[in-house]
Amino acid sequence: MIVAERKAMPEILEMLAPYKRVLALGCGGCVTVCLTGGEKNAELLATQLQLAAGQAGTSVTVEFDCVTRQCEKEFFANMKAAPGAYDAVLSLACGAGVGYMSELFPNTPVLPAMNTTFLATNVAKGIWEEYCRGCGDCMLGWTGGVCPIAKCSKSLINGTCGGTNKGKCEVSADMECGWLQIYKRLAAVGRLEEYRKQRAYPDHRKDRGKGVRRLVLKDMVEEQQESK
Ligand code: SF4
Ligand code: SF4
Repeated sequence: MIVAERKAMPEILEMLAPYKRVLALGCGGCVTVCLTGGEKNAELLATQLQLAAGQAGTSVTVEFDCVTRQCEKEFFANMKAAPGAYDAVLSLACGAGVGYMSELFPNTPVLPAMNTTFLATNVAKGIWEEYCRGCGDCMLGWTGGVCPIAKCSKSLINGTCGGTNKGKCEVSADMECGWLQIYKRLAAVGRLEEYRKQRAYPDHRKDRGKGVRRLVLKDMVEEQQESK
């Protein structure tokens, strides 16, 4: 899932400065699961913005709403009021939601209330960790399932940099060395020969070289065309 964190209030207030009627729009997808961008957060943010405006002596009306997912068109049909009824929409979705809404509603400013941070797994109650950076050329088949892009601070693909200190990364002592994790995992599954192989540097054409990253499910596209 995608993890996002709310931006600091001064940054949000600065973005909203030109607008008088604002919609704080939550998203019921990933950002609700990580408790940052769902309906309750949209309501809370609307209240906080209203209070901040009152304290600053400015007049702004902030309403809130939430859609099931801001990255899918059909869910916008259920909004209490159309985005165009507001001077601006403050989206509590990830960047995909903000970007998609900006296309769907070209005449309405859509502003990000969140910083989209990473693709995560829920490792314990209330804790999410990054497991993948969406590089487009997955290497987990020869790294024992440990991502060298996400789990190594330098995203190295040919083993440790040599700075590992008592199992921790030299860049951040908070972090286990990703390459030590890869080594241990390959040893555990009897595939250490993979560690000894020299790997070619990632082919970035598989990441950005194809232009827009897009998933096309042919069957669904054909089904849609046939139903028209
Ligand atoms: S190698 Fe690339 S696709 Fe595979 S987990 Fe890491 S970032 Fe994600
Ligand atoms: S110490 Fe380990 S995780 Fe940190 S940069 Fe070096 S190889 Fe990568």
